[in-house]
Order: sequence, then structure tokens, then C-alpha cells
Amino acid sequence: MTDFDVIIIGAGPGGIFSAYELIKLNPNLKICIFEEGNPLEKRKCPIDGVKVKSCVHCPSCAIMNGFGGAGAFSDGKYNITNQFGGNLCDYIGAKEAIDLMEYVDSINMMYGGEGSKLYSTANSEIKKLCLQNKLHLLDARVRHLGTDKNYVVLSNLYNILKDKVTFYFKEGVKTVEKLEKGFKVISKNREVTCNKCIISVGRSGSKWMESVCKDLNIKTHSNRVDLGVRVELPADVFSHLTDKLYESKIVYRTEKYGDLVRTFCMNPYGAVVNENTNGIITVNGHSYEDKSKHTNNTNFALLVSKHFTEPFDDSNAYAENIAKLSNMLGGGVIIQRFGDLIRGRRSNIDRINDSFVIPTLSATPGDLSLVIPKRILDGIIEMIYALDKIAPGTANDDTLLYGVEVKFYNMTVELDNNLETCHKGLYVIGDGSGVTHSLSHASASGVFVARKILEQ
Ligand SMILES: Cc1cc2nc3c(=O)[nH]c(=O)nc-3n(C[C@H](O)[C@H](O)[C@H](O)COP(=O)(O)OP(=O)(O)OC[C@H]3O[C@@H](n4cnc5c(N)ncnc54)[C@H](O)[C@@H]3O)c2cc1C
Repeated sequence: MTDFDVIIIGAGPGGIFSAYELIKLNPNLKICIFEEGNPLEKRKCPIDGVKVKSCVHCPSCAIMNGFGGAGAFSDGKYNITNQFGGNLCDYIGAKEAIDLMEYVDSINMMYGGEGSKLYSTANSEIKKLCLQNKLHLLDARVRHLGTDKNYVVLSNLYNILKDKVTFYFKEGVKTVEKLEKGFKVISKNREVTCNKCIISVGRSGSKWMESVCKDLNIKTHSNRVDLGVRVELPADVFSHLTDKLYESKIVYRTEKYGDLVRTFCMNPYGAVVNENTNGIITVNGHSYEDKSKHTNNTNFALLVSKHFTEPFDDSNAYAENIAKLSNMLGGGVIIQRFGDLIRGRRSNIDRINDSFVIPTLSATPGDLSLVIPKRILDGIIEMIYALDKIAPGTANDDTLLYGVEVKFYNMTVELDNNLETCHKGLYVIGDGSGVTHSLSHASASGVFVARKILEQ
């Protein structure tokens, strides 16, 4: 006899949706969730901009850890697509992946998301406009919950789960041991056993995931990293795209090097924010569904992927060191006007104050060309000029660039088509597996594994 039928490690979207689906299909199952962070309502980052201005390195980061995972305070953009957000379709098939993302969307709508708009790129005139200007608009439907509604959905899901699932908050799992039958999960305060174990530790659990794979002889493969800047400009410049599509994922192949540069995480009428990954400050963005919280600006990232294999294969370490350099020079995120960047001069407080675009994030004026490798920066500049053709005003001198933005990916854990490791009954899902990189794919992977477990 084991203590639990299923143990889930990590209460991000992957873990939450596994638990939801397991309980829905079999309410008699004994399930527990170990979560390194706090319950949702206790997740409070101490940075208030007044007394605490920068990261104080809490033992567990309120932004990344806790019920809701890394996406709890995010913009809540659920992209229903196989074209980006992860490679789930390579494992489970394109149709099933889309069906599961749609299912997740229906749950979100049921638990507080109703009324939020579903945008689509299908049959869009914008696609043609992009193609005419060497830009490629990727196909997707995107549900924008917004930071506010996303929080409501998570609270409601927690209320559903809390009486049916045992939660161990502030209990990061230390080790997972394989038993003759099932697994033993060990945290600081307890040791419990289970038949099936689902690991869903996200990006913040990447180092721990590596150690588990090493201990249990599960193979892993290096992954890519995305590096670039966040662009902020008047919302009117992009409104003809964002009003129709909300988020447009546009890819451009640079003429100079043939590299691909892409837009990422577009936030109409949104705000630029700091992101903290293991004490390294990078930049991100979000926006509210509630119009009263809208700003006059739109922001999005421009990213270039780098994937190192040999002799150096730690793509994340490469980007981490670049982010550290920006932190060293700027004490955090650096901001620069596009006009200053192309004239080869740093931005300073006066130039930023003179700008017609008012920054939504307080960052240190500086020179991004001293931080971002030339090849990447050249690509970003080229793409800004390409975007200027479909959204005139993008390449304006006053367009603001914040750096650096980094999208770290976990190494890919070797899994079969059931997202199961070489140890039967041990599943790895969500961003922690390296297979997904988004709310929708991570959540879908959770539902998928729950159904597989019950099929067995
Ligand atoms: C600021 C921000 C904005 C974002 N915006 C969007 C967006 O709009 N749309 C989108 O698609 N994606 C967005 N993302 C990405 C999205 O949040 C992730 O893809 C998604 O949360 C991955 O879900 P997950 O369950 O795999 O992992 P996570 O959400 O990272 O959850 C993993 C959980 O596991 C816990 N954990 C880690 N290690 C352990 C351990 N050893 N023991 C116990 N628990 C552990 C962590 O505390 C965490 O709560 C955003 C991310 C950030 C940081």
C-alpha cells in the first residue's frame, strides 16, 4: 500500500490541471501536491518600489513559486496553437494537443474567465500585409484573460481542489526515489509514497529537475535560449494589429545573417515589468483586461534563439551571463531610446525625460550595445525597421528598448509519447520537461497525463 495514488510535484498550471482532471475523472483518488511556494493569497513580492527597491532573494520567490506557478501574475494569454508555446504536439499529436488546449480554455471560462475575448489570426488581412513585407504572422487563437482574471480563475480552481487534494505548501521536494512498486517523495518535513508521480516543477525547478534526472538515470538534452529586448511604444502604433489579434507572433529572417527574430508576449495598453530569475533581473511585460488599468503604451519582446550543443551546451548559462552583465552596468534593467541606439550613444535621464514615449518601468538609462552581442542586436534593429513597414512609427527615435529580455528553457527530459520517463509511472510535464513553454501547453500536458494515468 502506498500513501497516495498520485503525488504531483509543483502547483503551476501543469500540476493544477493534472489534479483537476484526476479528481474530475475519479473523485476517490488520493492525491497530494507538494509546492515549494505559498498558497496564492500569500504570494507577495516584498519589492514595493519604496522601502524595498530590488530583489532581497527570498527563500522562495513569490513571483515564480506558489499556487499558480510562474504564470500566476502573468498576462494570462492562453495561445491555442501548435506553432509556438512548446512541442507538445510532437509527443501527443497535433489534433490531441489542440483539443486539450481548447478543453483547458473551456475550464478557464467556467471558473472566472467568461467574457474574455478570444482573438484569432485566421483569414486575417494582417497576414497578407506581413507577407508583403517579409514578415510571417504565425497562426494562433489567443484568449487574453489578463492579470486580473487570471488570478480569479486560479483562486476558483484552488477552491475546487483544496478539499479533495492534500496540499503541502512551502515544501520543496528534495528527492524522488524509485521503489520496487511506485515512488517515494522526500521533502524537509515528510516522506510519502505513491503509485504514480507527476513532476511539474516549471522553469524555477530546472536545476532540481536536472538532479532528479541524474539520480534516476533519465536522459536529458540541451535546449535553446531566447535573448533580446522589450520594445515599448505608443499603443496607437500597433492598435490596428492588437485590436484585431491582441497578440501577433511575427517572425522575420534577417538579411544580414539569415537569423530569425520574432515578436513575443505582446501587451497592448500594458506595462513593462521586472522579472527575477534566480536573482538575475530581466524584463517582461503584462497588461490588464480591466480598461481602467490600461496605459497608453504597447510592449512586446523581440527575441533571437540560440542553441549551443558542443563543446559548450549550456544555452541558459550563455544568456544568464549576458543578463548579469546588464545588471552589472545598470543595477537591473537598462532602458535606451531607439534613436540613441542607432546613433551609438547611451540614453541618459534627460534623453529619456525628453522622449514622447513615457516609460512604464523605471529602469536605468544606458547603452544596450554594450550588453547584447552584435549579431543579436543587428537582427533586432533590422526587425524594428521591418516592423516599421507594417506599423509605421515602430522605428521612431523615441521607441523605448529595455534589456535584456531572456526566455530560459529547461533541458528536454527524455520522455515517451505518454510523457512518461523510462521509469513506468513517473511522468514529467509542463515547462520543467522542456517540452512546453506556455500556460496553454503546460496545462494541456497536465490534463493529458491525468487521462493516461486513469486509462492505465
Ligand atoms: C512574468 C511571466 C509572464 C508570463 N506570461 C505568460 C503568458 O501570458 N502566456 C503564456 O502562455 N505563458 C506565460 N508565461 C510562462 C508561463 O507562466 C509558464 O509557461 C507556465 O507557468 C508553466 O507552467 P508549469 O506548471 O510547467 O510551471 P510553473 O508555472 O513554473 O510551476 C511550477 C511550480 O513548481 C514549483 N516547484 C519547483 N520546484 C519544486 C520542488 N522541488 N518541489 C515542489 N515544488 C516545486 C514552483 O514553485 C512552481 O510553483 C509567463 C511567465 C512569467 C514568469
